[in-house]
Amino acid sequence: MDSIAKFKIPEPIQKERTPFYYYDLDLLNHTLATAKKEADKYNFIIHYAVKANANDRILKIIRHHGIDADCVSGNEIKKVIEIGFDPEGIVYAGVGKTDWEIELAMETNIFCFNCESIAEIKVINSLAGKAGKTVNIALRINPNFRAGAHEYITTGVEENKFGIHPGELEIIMDTLALCPNLKFVGLHFHIGSQITDLNTFKRLCIRVNQIQEWFHNHQIIVNHINVGGGFGVDYNDPDNHPVSDFPNYFKLFNRFLDIGPGQKVHFELGRSLVAQCGSLITKVLYIKKGINTKFAIVDAGMTDLIRPALYQAYHKIENFTSTGKQEYYTIVGPICESSDTFGKYILLPETNRNDLLCIRSAGAYGETMASRYNLRDLPRALYSDNL
Ligand SMILES: *Cc1c(COP(=O)(O)O)cnc(C)c1O
Repeated sequence: MDSIAKFKIPEPIQKERTPFYYYDLDLLNHTLATAKKEADKYNFIIHYAVKANANDRILKIIRHHGIDADCVSGNEIKKVIEIGFDPEGIVYAGVGKTDWEIELAMETNIFCFNCESIAEIKVINSLAGKAGKTVNIALRINPNFRAGAHEYITTGVEENKFGIHPGELEIIMDTLALCPNLKFVGLHFHIGSQITDLNTFKRLCIRVNQIQEWFHNHQIIVNHINVGGGFGVDYNDPDNHPVSDFPNYFKLFNRFLDIGPGQKVHFELGRSLVAQCGSLITKVLYIKKGINTKFAIVDAGMTDLIRPALYQAYHKIENFTSTGKQEYYTIVGPICESSDTFGKYILLPETNRNDLLCIRSAGAYGETMASRYNLRDLPRALYSDNL
């Protein structure tokens, strides 16, 4: 194996105070252009899941590619409007929308609320009534199968809090008939995250087709099908697979989803658009000899990137500085938690104090999930073009 990392960041940026996120904007642009081009082939609409990365510069670039937004909070809606996203392209999901968030979304005239329960439908109807508005809603259906890389990022099974059970459709549609301020426009699904097996999406298509049949049999028109996000990236080998296989991903939906005349298909991609363009750059503070391993204690912690601590997620770690003999290291942060570990028994060239390490594929659910635990500063962001 090549001991020198292929991936490089510009020299001036290597001198910046650590830790920081580094974003490769060329890769971001390339990823977005690829996804958009492939989706356009079938007139599919992409909504970017803002929660994956809500950094202003990243959002502006995404908007520049003509991609719409998928929000899960009132503040995300405010943010994307500020950035210049089209309100008519915003979809708004979430199991716990508060009254002010619903009101804000209505004032903003977003495209659609993705509703997750009867209780929520009733509240939205009542708030829309007060505002004298009719709002579009889609039903988030729980397709009831297991998908995704980790229990916490699996959303499509019965025992989690997301979505409406298909068995409830009759009651839901009866409820909707009594809601004069709501307009039913479609169905929404989101089955989980970091799904790399395209077969899982094929299964989703088949479920969606079955559920659509119920609507067809009840003579209810479904104008919009939103199949959510969840498409994965290659955390193991970001250099050889910097962009997910969008051509086959979209092709699969076109092939297996029953798309009626005039029906529009929507996607909510987060991770697959932004994960690979971001890295967390950190400096080694100390090397500490343990019993079975050497610890490399770095200046980034779980407050900067929580995925390894929260989901046991794997991120490739590289040493930019050293070309020495390979050894195993456990890479840990300075936070007072044992879970503050970025990787165990990682083969790195001999690592010393002040070496720069790069934690790859950190553009999604990295910076957005940063916290100030231990009163640490939030990580900064630097870009490939600000030299
Ligand atoms: C998080 C989320 C997404 C994006 O998921 P990715 O795995 O990042 O593509 C899409 N839709 C909804 C409703 C979500 O909650």
